[in-house]
Amino acid sequence: MTLLEGSESDADALELAILGSGSAFSPIGHNASYLLDGELLLDCGAPVTRLMGERDRPLDQLKYVAISHLHSDHFFHLPQLLSARAVRYPQAEPLRIIGPTGTIRGLDTLGRIAQGDRFWEYATEVGKPVVEDWVGGQSGDLGDFRIEAVEVEHSAVLTSFGFRISRKGIIFGYSGDTTLCPGIRQLAASVDYLLCECTSMTEPAPIHLWRQEVDELMQTNPRTRFILTHLGERAVVKGALLASDGLVLRLKPVARD
Ligand SMILES: [Zn+2]
Repeated sequence: MTLLEGSESDADALELAILGSGSAFSPIGHNASYLLDGELLLDCGAPVTRLMGERDRPLDQLKYVAISHLHSDHFFHLPQLLSARAVRYPQAEPLRIIGPTGTIRGLDTLGRIAQGDRFWEYATEVGKPVVEDWVGGQSGDLGDFRIEAVEVEHSAVLTSFGFRISRKGIIFGYSGDTTLCPGIRQLAASVDYLLCECTSMTEPAPIHLWRQEVDELMQTNPRTRFILTHLGERAVVKGALLASDGLVLRLKPVARD
């Protein structure tokens, strides 16, 4: 098996912890948040402060955050995370945060609304987060994660990213929120595993993927392992694994030609 669920830790596996598997207004899961190897958080829509505690992952072990886009269900818990780290782990290394254009300004605006100017300035002075606005196609290293921002088409007024991430010889993709656009097609074709949004199982979902489109991606890319998330409802999808809150997967290297 190349994908093991809930097994003992293997040194060559990439651990994916699903903290939030729900779509924006989902009744079945927290909003989007995923943790890779306990160090890299993909999106911050869930109450990560509590959920990482449940996973025995202290907040000071978190090193990096990658934000796919600035909608509330992916972004709005970030001020809470930064504030909690500042209060509970004031000696922690600064968190490095990347996101699309507008992340620096959006986080500051949101933090001031969420916490008030005085506390937000205190929290950021203590935590010293390093926040970067990226553009589509930009890549770089977050420690020994290699990450590339792949621009996808979601909102007409926001830049949205998927991410291609490499570590331990495994190429992992995250769709963010997207339509069936060239970006997601390219991402699906170039990764071993794709954590892919599937907002609706029954009908087209505006500015999102739904089951029929995900099926097309799966048929086009039979060697890519699909993990479906950003769920508004659950259904059996042949050939794919469905995410759920609290699920932990250990993704193993796969043989390639
Ligand atoms: Zn979303």
